[in-house]
Amino acid sequence: MSQLEDSRKILEDALETLDKQDFYERLAFHERTLETHVTVERDSGREEVFKAFRSQHSTLRGPGKGGIRFSEDVSEEEVKALSLWMTLKTAVADIPYGGAKGGVVVDPSGLSDSEEKRLSEAYTDSISEFIGPDRDVPAPDMNTGARHMAWMMDEYSRIEGKTVPSVITGKPVEAFGSKGRAKATGYGAVYIVEKIIEEEGLESEELTAAVQGFGNAAEPAVKRLEEIGVDVIAVSDSGGATFESDGFSHELLTECKRDAGTVCKTGENISNKELLSLDVDFLLPAAIQEVITEENAGDIQADYIVEIANGPTTRKADEILEKRDVTVIPDILANSGGVTVSYYEWVQNRSGEYWEKEKVLEKLKKNIQEAYTQFTEVREKQKAYGRDTAYIIAARKLVSALEARE
Ligand code: GLU
Repeated sequence: MSQLEDSRKILEDALETLDKQDFYERLAFHERTLETHVTVERDSGREEVFKAFRSQHSTLRGPGKGGIRFSEDVSEEEVKALSLWMTLKTAVADIPYGGAKGGVVVDPSGLSDSEEKRLSEAYTDSISEFIGPDRDVPAPDMNTGARHMAWMMDEYSRIEGKTVPSVITGKPVEAFGSKGRAKATGYGAVYIVEKIIEEEGLESEELTAAVQGFGNAAEPAVKRLEEIGVDVIAVSDSGGATFESDGFSHELLTECKRDAGTVCKTGENISNKELLSLDVDFLLPAAIQEVITEENAGDIQADYIVEIANGPTTRKADEILEKRDVTVIPDILANSGGVTVSYYEWVQNRSGEYWEKEKVLEKLKKNIQEAYTQFTEVREKQKAYGRDTAYIIAARKLVSALEARE
């Protein structure tokens, strides 16, 4: 089964738990999905056509919301799974949005900066009637970041004939972005780790973590783990993984990444497979989808998997991990810090009042820790898997939104 089919099945089960099966079709299927082809002039002068998508799963609880990824693996099926997860994520985080996602089928490492800019503009043109501050609000995702958001905001604003900052979030702070947004996904995940440490009465200084990835979400997570005293003993990037039994310093890793282009020169070289099976307290997969599968779930030694990436664990792996008492904090809860601060950015854009970083992070911490507390209460009551628990919470909010209109 694909990740989309798996998700629909978990949603169906969640609705059954709530005795609300009748709502399944209204919640499982996408409102609209747009497929486009965008033409971009390469630096050589040649024109190239790229396939692209924007999918709005739901606008029931607010405008569609979700990132745009540039990746060769983008497909209609993947975008639809990701947009359904955004609907669930915004419900779990309790922010007034629906769920959406977009992507362009492209290997961005083969593009120059000016080609990426033209691609961002052409993609915005192709979805401009589909998006809008009250319709669907994009944001960064895999291989896109603040500068892409600035290009896209400018292109949308050109089409509208006025500056429209709230059409997109994750923008640079200098161009209507929010302070704290760049850190939000990684910090949000570690705020949950902090809550676990507090509730379980653990000592941060005695704990270890392995982080798969060192990108937009993983790098701030490593920083926050260091701030609270947890030893990060392994990290990875596209160049491979690296291990240091005493723990890495965030500063050294970022220096290495800046100077050598990879974090992997700093410690002992290990494989990604080895990173995932290290004997750590917290494993934070923060790279790509489907890295913990039925093949390696039996090797996981971590007590907690905190999913910073979207969809790193397959359904079959969930079942194995649950039996082995590994607690999974699912993506739709663990990485919801990004979209939560996107919401704060959208609020700031609309009000014209801009907040200090401390205020943003304080609000995020409170919000995500409350979501985590609700998660533990529901999990305890329903005796459900971690992922299923989050789906039950989301399904309940979505059903309430439908019932309120009956
Ligand atoms: N792409 C991020 C996610 O998957 C952020 C989405 C947003 O900020 O809208 O949650």
